[in-house]
Amino acid sequence: MRFLRIVVLSIALIVGAAAMPQSGNADSLPVVSIFPNEVPQGRSAVLRVAAPPEVTRVEATLYGQQHSLYRSIDGDWVGLLATDIYADRGMFPVEIFSWIDDSLYSAQTESIDVVWGSFLNQSIHVSNNLVPLLDPTLNDREFENLQRVYSRFTPEKLWQGPFQTPVPGVQISEFGGIRDYNDGLLAGRHTGIDFRAGLGQPVHAAAHGRVVFAQNTPIHGNHVVIDHGMGVLTGYSHMGELFVVPGQRILQGDTIGSVGATGRVEGAHFHFELTVNGFWVDPAQFMGLSIPEAID
Ligand SMILES: [Zn+2]
Repeated sequence: MRFLRIVVLSIALIVGAAAMPQSGNADSLPVVSIFPNEVPQGRSAVLRVAAPPEVTRVEATLYGQQHSLYRSIDGDWVGLLATDIYADRGMFPVEIFSWIDDSLYSAQTESIDVVWGSFLNQSIHVSNNLVPLLDPTLNDREFENLQRVYSRFTPEKLWQGPFQTPVPGVQISEFGGIRDYNDGLLAGRHTGIDFRAGLGQPVHAAAHGRVVFAQNTPIHGNHVVIDHGMGVLTGYSHMGELFVVPGQRILQGDTIGSVGATGRVEGAHFHFELTVNGFWVDPAQFMGLSIPEAID
């Protein structure tokens, strides 16, 4: 399917390039900005494309993933870029295509500079009753299943305004930590951030969206995933009770569950994760980005 898409796009590019009136006319090329342009591994960036008003669609490709941008209230087309925690470092091309109806208007290549994510090394010892949950096969299976859930792309921005942290407590761990469990029994990465939280405390949706997952998993425990559109999803782990079901529309601040101690945990706390374009990214860095509102 992806191959077919690339072939179709290549043909469109060839046809489009021939039909493009003045591809050398720099005045008419959309103006592209990426912030931040230097993107540490496991972080997000905002792509803005200022295109002439006659442009009807803009798409961008990074790491072979092609996604549509949305039109913002300030007139720019906006999309989100993200890098994997395992991403190679260096310069990577971001291709930007703009269209007027079905004909290609422009094709440009910008780049991002992927730099070291400043991850901490963490040595963790879990108690004996949790040791079965360090099985690498079990871990791979859970992370692959969740990756499938997180990889959906809803080409519509469902949220408004900045994201909010789901619990009021202080953050007690960093994103992306390189974890060694029980002296080499399991090597893993911390795919979210942890907050201090008490058993039974309400957990709130970070932003508007739709529930796409609400069930128990061995490691994440009682886990909920909300799709916010434009490739952004949030995950809420180790909860006690779950108050939502898949398919449910959610407003920012809705109580989706309660803090618990389910899954691979030593005690009650709240683990929050956020993905962009299928990559786990630092939720705190994402929440600090300025992302313009979509036009109605
Ligand atoms: Zn955690």
